[in-house]
Amino acid sequence: MKTITLREGKERSLQRRHPWIFQGSIAKGGADSGETVRVQSHDGQFLAWGAFSPSSQIRVRAWSFDEAERIDAAFFERRIAQAVAMRERLAIATLASDGVRLIHGEADGLPGLVVDRYGDLLSAQFLSAGIERWREPIAEALLRVTGCQHLYERSDVNVRELEGLAQRTGWLRRPDAADPQTAPTTEVTIREHAWRLSLDVAEGHKTGYYLDQRDNRKLFADLVRQWNARSVLNCYSYTGGFSVAALAGGATEVISVDSSGPALARAHAHVRLNGFDPALHTALDADVNATLRRFISEGRTFDAIVLDPPKFAPTAAHAERAARAYKDINRLAFKLLSDQGMLLTFSCSGGVSADLFHKIVAGAGLDAGVDGYIVKRLEAAPDHPTTVTFPEGEYLKGLVILRKSER
Ligand code: SAH
Repeated sequence: MKTITLREGKERSLQRRHPWIFQGSIAKGGADSGETVRVQSHDGQFLAWGAFSPSSQIRVRAWSFDEAERIDAAFFERRIAQAVAMRERLAIATLASDGVRLIHGEADGLPGLVVDRYGDLLSAQFLSAGIERWREPIAEALLRVTGCQHLYERSDVNVRELEGLAQRTGWLRRPDAADPQTAPTTEVTIREHAWRLSLDVAEGHKTGYYLDQRDNRKLFADLVRQWNARSVLNCYSYTGGFSVAALAGGATEVISVDSSGPALARAHAHVRLNGFDPALHTALDADVNATLRRFISEGRTFDAIVLDPPKFAPTAAHAERAARAYKDINRLAFKLLSDQGMLLTFSCSGGVSADLFHKIVAGAGLDAGVDGYIVKRLEAAPDHPTTVTFPEGEYLKGLVILRKSER
């Protein structure tokens, strides 16, 4: 077993059970990519077992803070079973949807592993050297614990390069592949609240879909109904989750805006799939910022607007430029809100805190000359948990704003 010795004073974050060890904290020691190492303080005290990543800034990711723990296949199966049991406790599958995030990286003690379940199909991302090393036992454990037979890999993510890993996609487990009659396709339809949505685990973003907004879509449907919102603008719609929610809430005119043609085609298909009149829905393949400006120049207004942009700030270092981009779209959206209209605005940037996001949106309202009530603060659905010891895991934050009446 190889040992990594930290510099004096650098043991504190591990003692607080924070799972990352940066390159600069290490005094001596090294190992192969993904190899399990014993991490100790400068004076030799055990701190953690972790996975070594020779090329990443995050040089070690901790597996366990328990010296008695053995990092083997059974360890991964236990962690996976714990994570799945937590989702069972949340009762998502019975209450809300058969699309569930089963493993959410650090929060589930498995840094670098993301697994989503879509019906009977698992879709996984292996994002760190340690997770890559244990990929086969993890695949086996995932099938055993969930009872699913089909596992698709979506390790086509840039962060793998930081770990010195090439991108990879394809079936990792697919028992009936030989028989084309029964072989699964990568296409699935999931249930989400009162609607259904399709996705393709091979072609969709991330593992195929954005499950983290599940509960916020339900809230949106409820508020559209409660506040009688008729016209809805869904910006960065992807495959139209919020658009279908709006229609379910009784909206009569919904515009989905996205720069991805295939995502919009699916959004439009979702309108039909759920029995809504396709005439109520328009799919706009366009840049959101330009579209908002055009609608302003046309003098249009909307009863409800959703802004769910991609990650503008991957890290805090990008926060300033991202802040300008967030402020800009929020300012434009404020201008398009009808009297007592609703703005649902999000940031999924880890580098932008909830507090900073609030300030950005406040600045946008000020510039637009629009005030509103913050009626609710939003976050990711609880199957994308943040833990007590790893607050950095928090990424999605949102606000529901009700424009003040000027009448
Ligand atoms: N709201 C969606 C998820 C949005 S993800 C849901 O509920 O599922 C962000 C989306 O923004 C992606 O679909 C991406 O294609 C789109 N996008 C990124 N940049 C864009 C731009 N400049 N204009 C329009 N869409 C953009």
